[in-house]
Formats: sequence, structure tokens, C-alpha cells
Amino acid sequence: MRVLVVGSGAREHALCLALAADPAVTALVCAPGNAGTAAVAEQRGVDPLDGAAVARLAADVAADLVVIGPEAPLVAGVADAVRAAGIACFGPSGQAAQLEGSKAFAKAVMAAAGVPTAAARVCAGEADATAALEEFGPPYVVKDDGLAAGKGVVVTADREAALAHARACRGTVVIEEFLDGPEVSLFCLTDGTSVVPLLPAQDFKRIGDGDTGPNTGGMGAYAPLDWLPAGFTDSIVDTVATPTVAELRRRGTPFTGLLYIGLAITGRGPRVVEFNARFGDPETQVVLALLETPLAGLLHATATGTLAAHPPLQWKDGAAVTVVVAAANYPGTPRTGDVITGADQPGVIHAGTRRRDDGAVLSAGGRVLSATATGATLAEARAAAYALVARIDLPGGQYRTDIAARAAGS
Ligand code: AMP
Repeated sequence: MRVLVVGSGAREHALCLALAADPAVTALVCAPGNAGTAAVAEQRGVDPLDGAAVARLAADVAADLVVIGPEAPLVAGVADAVRAAGIACFGPSGQAAQLEGSKAFAKAVMAAAGVPTAAARVCAGEADATAALEEFGPPYVVKDDGLAAGKGVVVTADREAALAHARACRGTVVIEEFLDGPEVSLFCLTDGTSVVPLLPAQDFKRIGDGDTGPNTGGMGAYAPLDWLPAGFTDSIVDTVATPTVAELRRRGTPFTGLLYIGLAITGRGPRVVEFNARFGDPETQVVLALLETPLAGLLHATATGTLAAHPPLQWKDGAAVTVVVAAANYPGTPRTGDVITGADQPGVIHAGTRRRDDGAVLSAGGRVLSATATGATLAEARAAAYALVARIDLPGGQYRTDIAARAAGS
């Protein structure tokens, strides 16, 4: 199988590593990629948002399967362009990707499908937003309706800050009930009908230790979640994934690819916080580190509507932890161009990196590296991930010291 992966983050590097390890993969191309993907895949340049260009590249490299990593190309309809060229594509249509592209759309689908989620108001202007903030009370949850690279949501007890974010969003704003409780990410593969869940994982959204500071794209993750009740995954498949997939099929816009379900485990039970239309970063790093089943066949079955015939998934024993090393000033405008040492260690997954002509790895984005390790226990995996971090030097770099700490009992 010849596979083209589109994207340039840690998720795509993790996907490339797993695909490269699958004996069924005879050629692997990543576009546009980063300094890490270049070591495992042929690197090609492409604008990931240009559907025609991605479809041309896929034909050019004779891809049997195209895997679209990030949300922006999916929402822009790049998967539609690839499929229109007759090439199997892992990733939803532009319309189905609205599950991530518009929070108001996601809320409407959840309401129609009877999926448990936070009560919400879709607000068109400041007067609407003020009234909704009044209705729900603090802590306030204010969301930009559209894509915002993990930075569109503000959760705050400060009414002025909530209003300021609502104003800054300019377009439609979703204001909702605050959901209290630990968060869980559940990735579900779906071919539009069948649903195959992966292992639940937990990510750490805030920049600072102890869940302080602003939200980010994610600062670390671990799996599995031993503290979840037995039957948790099956119950989320039954109450969230399957009804959502059925509702999109009913609307004539079936969802194929990865449905990412972000949940809060509240005192009243699990509630959906968000849907994403693709593998989540950094959870992908830990989930794929534990997946034993070859990835290419699994993604191909998802893309071609044959998931029901796929054998059950196999998982490695033990646990995985990833710790994100971010650039100075992230999640504001990150400082780039710093020389990194320790980036080429096995287990270090690249995100915002590029390689200089002399071979040096330079920072080129907000989240720069993900130090990923497995272990027989969560504590061992955590120690191994932080040992990798200790051997990385990124000037001004930031990372959390408490990823998986509570769950590992440290
Ligand atoms: P979203 O982009 O919708 O995933 O939101 C990003 C993050 O904001 C989530 O992972 C949560 O940590 C937080 N968040 C979103 N919605 C809520 C909510 N209703 N209550 C509490 N926290 C939320």
C-alpha cells in the first residue's frame, strides 16, 4: 500500500511512524511534513488547504490511501477533492467535518441525535452574549463558533473577560453551561456506519502545571485511563458515537474517518465537550504508541467502508505518556528559529520543527516536540517520557512537569 499523509504536526509524525512500521506499507510520503517526518517518509511540498493540489500529489505518488491529518484541510473539503479523483481517503467530507468546523452545527447534531452535552446558546451579537452569560452564570464558557487551533474557547469566572472574548470572536459565539469533571478523549474510527473505538486517553489543555493559565492545543497526554469504570468505552460508543454517525448518515453527509469525542465526566455522567473530525494531538502520540494492530489496513478499511470486516484491535500491555515541549511565548505568538538539541532521540515526535542545511533542527512553531514513551506501568512510562525531555534543549522552551502525575500516583 502506498500512503500519503497530509500535515506537518506531531500527529502526522506519529501517524508516519506507525504507518512506516506496518509491513503492508510499501511507500510513505508526507506533505508538507516536518524535520521528524522527513526521517521516515518521502517529503513533498504542498499547500494542505489546496484540495486540487493534494489530489494531484496523491495521483503523482500513486497513493492507494491519503490520510488527512489536520482539521483545516478537512473543513476546506480536501478529502472530497481526493475522493473525487478516485483515491481512497481517510478523513471526512467538508460537510461532515463541520462537526468540528462549527460548534453550533455540532450542537444541532447532538440535539437531533440525543447526545448528552452542555446546554448552550448560539449568540449572534453582544446583547445575545450578555444575556446568555447572565443565564448560565460563572464560570463562563465562551466559544468561537469556527476553527481556532485550540484557542477559541475561554473558560473564566471573570464576566468582563468572558464578554471580551465574545467580542473578539466577531462572528457567531457559543456560550454554554460549565461542565465540571475530568476530561477524556475517545477516538472512534468510523466508515460512516460501523464504529471502532480506540483507547481512551487524557490530554492536558492548559499551559501551566496544575491546569493553570490559558488553553493550548494540548501540552501532554497519557493512556490508558485505568480510573474509568468498566464498560465506559462501549457506553460512549452507544450513547455518543453511534447516534452521531447515524444522524450524519441520515442527513446525507456520512462521516468517515476519525470522530474525536471530548468528554467531561460530570457528577451527572459523561457529557460531550467537543467533537473533532480528526486524530487529536497530543493524544495520538500515546494511543498509537499502544496500538499493536497495523495502522495502514485499519485506516484503509475506514476509508473504504469495510470496517465491519476488520479484525478486533490488539493493544500492547502497559501505558504511554507524551510531554509536549513548546516554544517560548506559546500559546501567544511563539518564538521560532531556535536551535534544538536532543530532537533526534527515538520517541521524540516532531511538530513545529525544520532542518537547516547543516542538519541542525530548528523550532518552527508553537508546539515543537512531543517526548513520547511507553512503560509497563504509567509511572514507568511517565519517568521515561520525562527522561527524554531532560535530554532536549530548546532555548526558552516550556513544558508541564505534571503530565499523568496524579494518575501515576506521583
Ligand atoms: P473545545 O475547543 O470545545 O474542545 O474546548 C477546549 C477546552 O475548553 C476543553 O477541552 C475544555 O477543557 C474546555 N471547555 C470547553 N467547553 C467546556 C465546558 N462546557 N465546561 C468546561 N470546560 C469546557
